[in-house]
Amino acid sequence: MPFQRGPASEPGPGGLFRRRVRTVSRPDGVLQCNRCGGRTVLNTENGVVVKRGRRLRGTKVDTDICANCWTEGITVPMQAAVGKTG
Ligand SMILES: [Zn+2]
Repeated sequence: MPFQRGPASEPGPGGLFRRRVRTVSRPDGVLQCNRCGGRTVLNTENGVVVKRGRRLRGTKVDTDICANCWTEGITVPMQAAVGKTG
């Protein structure tokens, strides 16, 4: 018997809020989270060394991650436009 998909579920209050956030116009080129609408960017580095008072950069692990969603344990890449990457 082939798999049959059931009817689509209605989005809850959180889903409706996220849908509204995604459709709000944003300034051109501004990184914004498509999940929560936050604009705080988080970049993480591994292996940073401080030598003679100078900070040597480590290896980038994550770039342009939403800081608000990261506090909830969710990694969401920030996007400059809806439906586009980067
Ligand atoms: Zn977010």
